This record gives sequence, C-alpha cells and structure tokens, in this order.
Amino acid sequence: MKTRTVKLGNLQIGGKHPVRVKGMLKTPYSDLKGLIREARQLEEEGAEALRVAVREESNAGIVKIFKKEGIKVPLVADIHFHYKTALAAIDNGFDGIRLNPLNITKPGEIRQVVKEAKIHKIPIRVGVNSGGFKKGFSSSRQLAAQMVSSVGRYIRILEKESFFDIMVSLKGSDAESTIIANELFARKFDYPLHLGITATGSYLSGVVKSSIGLGAVLSKGIGNIIRVSLTAPSFLEIRVAKYILQALKLRTYGPEIVSCPTCSRCEVKLINIVDRFEAELTGSGLSAPIRIALMGCVVNGPGEARQADIGAAFGKKKAIIFRKDKILRQSDEKNIIKDLLQEARKIWM
Ligand code: SF4
Repeated sequence: MKTRTVKLGNLQIGGKHPVRVKGMLKTPYSDLKGLIREARQLEEEGAEALRVAVREESNAGIVKIFKKEGIKVPLVADIHFHYKTALAAIDNGFDGIRLNPLNITKPGEIRQVVKEAKIHKIPIRVGVNSGGFKKGFSSSRQLAAQMVSSVGRYIRILEKESFFDIMVSLKGSDAESTIIANELFARKFDYPLHLGITATGSYLSGVVKSSIGLGAVLSKGIGNIIRVSLTAPSFLEIRVAKYILQALKLRTYGPEIVSCPTCSRCEVKLINIVDRFEAELTGSGLSAPIRIALMGCVVNGPGEARQADIGAAFGKKKAIIFRKDKILRQSDEKNIIKDLLQEARKIWM
C-alpha cells in the first residue's frame, strides 16, 4: 500500500522503498562497552535502524557515544512518561524518537516535542502497545480499534502543528490484534507503519507469532519497517526479521537454504549437515541470492535440488550435486559441505 516517505537519518522509510529491518538494544546502560558491542553486532547482522531505550534525560547523551564509536545506522530514542526526556533525546542528536500516546498525553507537552523535532528535522513514531492500556478488551477487534483510535487522536495533534514526519506502530501481544490494527490503520492513513508484536513469549513461540502476524500484514503490502521482538538475544531478532522478509520475497539477503524435514527414508544426519552448512555458508562470503537445496533422499531430493540453483540429494551416505538439470558431481556425507560450497563458489563468486 502506498504511503508517504519519512526520512530517518540517512534511511528512507515508506513510499517505494523496501521494507526495512530495525533492531533494539538490550544491554543495560551500566555496561557501556557491552552496549556499543551490541549496536555493532546488530549493524553487522543487517539492522538498518536501532531503537535505544532512553529512560531519563541523563541517558540521552548515549547517542553521541554511539556516533563517536562509528555506529552508522539511525538511532531512535524510545521515550515514555516524560516529555522532557524526548526533548533531551532530540537535542543530543537522536535521528528519531518514539512517543507513546498512552503515557505522554498533555497536548502542551506534545507540542513542545513537535516544535523541537521540527527544528531538528527528525521524525516521530507514534507507537502504541496493547500493554499500555489500563483496561481489558473483550476481543482482538476491540483492542485493535482502540489502538487505532489512540494513535489517530495523537496524529491529529501533530498535524495541527503542521508536522507530518510521522511513523506509526500498533502492537498487540498476539498476531490477531496486531493484524487487525495495522490493516485498519492502513485503510485510514498513509503514514509509514513500523510493524511488530510487542511481547511474543519464548523464542519459538515468538518466531511463530512474529512470522504469522508480520507476514499476514506484509503479504497485503502493508508495513514499511519491521522489528521482531523475541525473549532472546537481539541478533536473533534481526535474523528472524530477515528470514520473514526473504520468505515473502520482499528483500534478499544472500543465499537461501532449502532442506527437507527428513523422515525415516533419510540415511544421513541431515539436520546436523544443514546446521553445519548454514554456519559455513554464513562465513563463506557467498552473497548471491541463490537457492541451495539439501535433500535427504531420492524421493523429492533430485526434484528440489534441480529446482534450486544448486543442490544435493542424498542416497545411502552418498550425495549427488545438481546444478539445475545437470549432475555436477558425486559427493558423500563427509565431504558434502565442502563440495557443495566449492561448486557454488565456482559459479557465483
Ligand atoms: S526428501 Fe526424502 S528424506 Fe527428506 S522428507 Fe522427503 S522423503 Fe523424507
């Protein structure tokens, strides 16, 4: 769906630009070195913007340290409760701020923040989470409608100040309310949407909720930047976000592995082979957006391997490496990782 474009530091979000990936820092302020290390790690993983929790005015100077340390991606200050913290974040050089319409509510205070954001030419994300409401809701639809209406009221205050560098997020802790809220919002407004599910549960549950919730919205062409939230290390959030975008063919991030689930027909340790292959592939420097298949037997193996750009199908301890319809060579369980990478490199590097 067509939206306005908003500029966050050097990053264009919305309009015709691809869906972006955002990360969040989790290290406490008491561990400054760890915080910088985490920011660098997320940047290397592919985060295109980073959210930094700024709890109080005295935290706002962290942005100068990040920039001095060479962090290049735009930094967004996440602000709650105190508008003066937002003012401090803007003055210290954050590239954007997030305001919560459920806890910074006084129009006079909001106007002061808008005035400062205008001077510094930075965008404001109006971000509502289901956990911010003080009452319960009888259905996901009711919660979604309430989220959209809270954001809508806030947007009107910003627009009255002739401020339009707005992004919006509407996050439930379940896929259903998040999907409904974002679809509802996209029908009424053309501001770019930052998608996410706010509290997803344990790692696997979080991956599933995020994939379903974000995937459903993104597949309808809604959503301009995503942040996957997992109760897990932050670099995994970036990896999952990239997998979601790649699965929907919205972005490409180098080679994609296609592998079968294995079954009783499989006569090799395919799960282990795929894990090791993925690790080798990540460090291989191979960046072409190709499909590499690793299949456990001859039932679907040769077919999938042929449909991929390059692939291997196992028999009993042996494997055949295919490039489309052509058999390139034979390999075996012990050498398949090395041999497959070697063949891929010959073609794409
Ligand atoms: S490709 Fe072969 S081993 Fe893999 S799941 Fe299918 S039948 Fe089983």
